[in-house]
Amino acid sequence: MSTEHPTRISLEQALDIIISRCAPHRMTAENVAVADAQNRVLAEDIHATHDLPPFANSAMDGFALRGADLPGAGESTFRVIGEVFAGATSAPNVGQGECARITTGAPLPPGADTVVIKENVRVENDRVFVRAGEKAGINVRAAGEDCAAGSLVLRAGTHLQAAQLAMLSALGRASVPVRRKPRAAIIVTGDELVDVGQPLGFGQIHESNGVMLTALLQESGAKAVSEIRVRDEPQALRAALLDAAAQADLIVSSGGVSAGEADHLPALLGELGEIHFHKVRLKPGMPVLFGEIGACLYFGLPGNPVSTAVTFQVFVRCALATMLGEHRGHAVLRAKLSDSVHKKHARAELLRCALASDSEGVLWATPHSHQGSHMLRGLIESNALVLLPEEARELERGAVVTVWPAC
Ligand code: AMP
Ligand code: MG
Repeated sequence: MSTEHPTRISLEQALDIIISRCAPHRMTAENVAVADAQNRVLAEDIHATHDLPPFANSAMDGFALRGADLPGAGESTFRVIGEVFAGATSAPNVGQGECARITTGAPLPPGADTVVIKENVRVENDRVFVRAGEKAGINVRAAGEDCAAGSLVLRAGTHLQAAQLAMLSALGRASVPVRRKPRAAIIVTGDELVDVGQPLGFGQIHESNGVMLTALLQESGAKAVSEIRVRDEPQALRAALLDAAAQADLIVSSGGVSAGEADHLPALLGELGEIHFHKVRLKPGMPVLFGEIGACLYFGLPGNPVSTAVTFQVFVRCALATMLGEHRGHAVLRAKLSDSVHKKHARAELLRCALASDSEGVLWATPHSHQGSHMLRGLIESNALVLLPEEARELERGAVVTVWPAC
């Protein structure tokens, strides 16, 4: 139980609190098949157990020969003594003045150190004529030139995507240790909410945060294990929170965290657990609430759909990355504002923007016309959030701004 907690803190303070509170909730490791590891986070460093490529091989289709035999001027003749195709289990020995037909990926025959592409030679029966100008050693991929045996290839915390899965397979791994997916319970609150497919009565709206949170959780490497819609009634909310806390690593709720008559969640969190902060100097998403109920982390996101989305991107994503020990290695992107912005308030602001570069390679952020926190249109027609710092007021066209994510 807590009564004193930080409030109206800065975005940076909020992220610091989240990181320090979530670090002890690091997920344990589990082994999964590489084929099932997409979007998971690597739990251990991966070293190459063998060279990659495992053996010297040809980069092209052509003829493998000895570089020392290449002509300095004019033309030289080589005798074809055999062939070695990709998958060959043996290869002929290439001696002086000899060559072997070779295909891409085939092991370089002993004695050979060079591949001359077939387009550059003239072939007559078992004779191959090579003109001057070819370089010794070309078109050969050395063993271990991509990854040497024993070298560090993927660091713990890497987000596994297609290329990483290919690398793990190339290294011969069938399974990989990844962090367990955080289990999230979703609670959407609001007496005005109606399920999709149902007609709207007076003052009612369709519930849209649940499906969005499920998708955001999945995108962030977590798993929604339950989703429940609860009315703005303290008893019902208390039961939902306790039930969720018993089964999940984190709860993400929407709505009911502001100062309205029906906003019961801050008081309930204080009663059932601990509030780590309530309210951040941020637009949208000011009323965001963070705490813990027993061993379960709790994020109370405001209910306006854009506030829900933005506070998820900023706070819950940071929490999940910490729980997963993840480093996505985001480059800090900066862009220029294409329109001037007059910011009246003293909070940081995350503007929904369309990001595009011009022909000079300069990145421009164009703020969407629909910046209201209830305006999903601004979200679906934007591809970036741009951070305006607290102290910013008048931003001219061309002002340099930071593009989220920065966490
Ligand atoms: P609240 O944070 O509960 O004060 O809600 C703020 C605004 O978001 C209100 O206009 C609500 O109707 C709306 N809202 C709350 N929850 C949802 C939801 N799950 N889906 C769509 N709109 C919502
Ligand atoms: Mg509400």
